[in-house]
Amino acid sequence: MSAVIAEQSAPSSAVARFLSRRPQLFINNEWVDAKSGKLIPVIDPANGRNIASVADAGEADVDAAVAAARRALEHGDWADMRPAKREALIWRLSDLIEQNADELAELESLDNGKTKFMANIVDVAGTRNYFRYMAGWATKIEGSTIDVSAGGPPGTKFQAQTRREPVGVVAQIIPWNFPLAMAAWKLGPALATGCTCILKPAEQTPLTALRLAELIAEAGFPPGVVNVLTGYGETTGAALVRHPGVDKVAFTGSGEVGKLINKSATDTLKRVSLELGGKSPVIMLQDMDVQTAVGGAAQAIFFNAGQVCAAGSRLYVQRDIYDQVLEGVAGAANAIKLGPGLSPDTEMGPLVSSEQQQRVMDYIQAGRSEGASVMAGGEPVDHPGYFVKPTVLASVNNSMRVVQEEIFGPVLVAERFDDLNEIADIANATPYGLSASIWSNDLRAVNRLIPKIKAGTVWVNCHGPVDPNMPFGGFKQSGTGRESGRAAIEMYTELKSVCMMI
Ligand code: ADP
Ligand code: MG
Repeated sequence: MSAVIAEQSAPSSAVARFLSRRPQLFINNEWVDAKSGKLIPVIDPANGRNIASVADAGEADVDAAVAAARRALEHGDWADMRPAKREALIWRLSDLIEQNADELAELESLDNGKTKFMANIVDVAGTRNYFRYMAGWATKIEGSTIDVSAGGPPGTKFQAQTRREPVGVVAQIIPWNFPLAMAAWKLGPALATGCTCILKPAEQTPLTALRLAELIAEAGFPPGVVNVLTGYGETTGAALVRHPGVDKVAFTGSGEVGKLINKSATDTLKRVSLELGGKSPVIMLQDMDVQTAVGGAAQAIFFNAGQVCAAGSRLYVQRDIYDQVLEGVAGAANAIKLGPGLSPDTEMGPLVSSEQQQRVMDYIQAGRSEGASVMAGGEPVDHPGYFVKPTVLASVNNSMRVVQEEIFGPVLVAERFDDLNEIADIANATPYGLSASIWSNDLRAVNRLIPKIKAGTVWVNCHGPVDPNMPFGGFKQSGTGRESGRAAIEMYTELKSVCMMI
């Protein structure tokens, strides 16, 4: 019997219309063919079938998009627009997202593999909320007045102030795990601050970014403010990063590509923000009740099939409750129902691509050969589509690749720890530092641990909540810069000092 519950159902008429549209790029508020005429297939990861095509943007298309973004930044409606009008436009976009929520969730589910249910409540609702939050910032950007002691001719004084101005034309390169939400995290602060954008979705998941482009035009943003180029990373993405007309690159994706981007952007000294991978620890102290610990640990790794940069992929449980928690998490893993994202009974969809499925299966194999014990999952799924069983590996140690490297799939490594004094060192012993969670009701222990954890976000008695008002980003090799909140507004603006003799 197959471990996968049902076949993918037929798309709704709205989604069918969208899938059959002509594959084009969105430049200067117009839909245009890629100059090369090349296309990229779009695959349904639940069955490997080709469901649509998108245009493959080349160097000439990148030039056209950057030119459109530059014109919009410097001249015309957007350049002269009052902040309150920008706010209203971003709100209008969020309303259109709400009105088209069902279609967006279905597209996201088909393209990425996640369940439509989760796409609806997490990705689409999160996108709408993110734009609403960022809309408010448009009217709240401020500088300061500064007392200076600089000397001038007798009888004169200096008056100084700071202004925040848009950083300029921004290339935004996003990953395939939360395609629409990542577009919002990038576009939201850029639009609030008056920047112009070229958004490049991941080649595996381009659909919702293209639908979003239609909504951006419908909302009434002036031409050139947002341009959407579908294309491959090594070509379209790389061309954007080295383009002299781009002022900032904002990237979310793998550490490997983040490092390439950082190097390439050095040639033109672009501003760069990088939100990269993680290998986030989940630390369970033994005062924790076992059921809460099991539910928390399972959700931390299996949400979105583990394709989450902040996934809780390393579980450290204190000695007295280790055996029970491990057994519980393995049981929870075995109980998860795999299936296509559009089937209402599905609890976990396929991974995004056959490449990702292979990468994750290779890691599981590496764990086995390095001596890890497989407590749940591990074996391949005999069904078309890119499914991977939720997997729990125990008897691991810090030198194993499965403990050090980001797997980006539903694979948990679990280890026992004894002494509270050693857990921070263990938790910090990877190159990453994106997030961590601590589970305990011992206030004193928790508060002593928080400052020792090298991570951009530390959750306590939860793992995963993000909020448009809460800075998000990494220590160490998890990246540079912080998205969301005031930090994002600062990242999308240049600070200008004005000094006037009066
Ligand atoms: P993964 O390997 O898991 O697909 P990547 O980091 O390669 O993750 O992809 C994240 C995003 O970065 C995607 O939009 C991809 O197209 C883009 N990308 C990949 N390689 C490059 C590159 N050399 N330059 C710019 N963007 C890239
Ligand atoms: Mg890659």
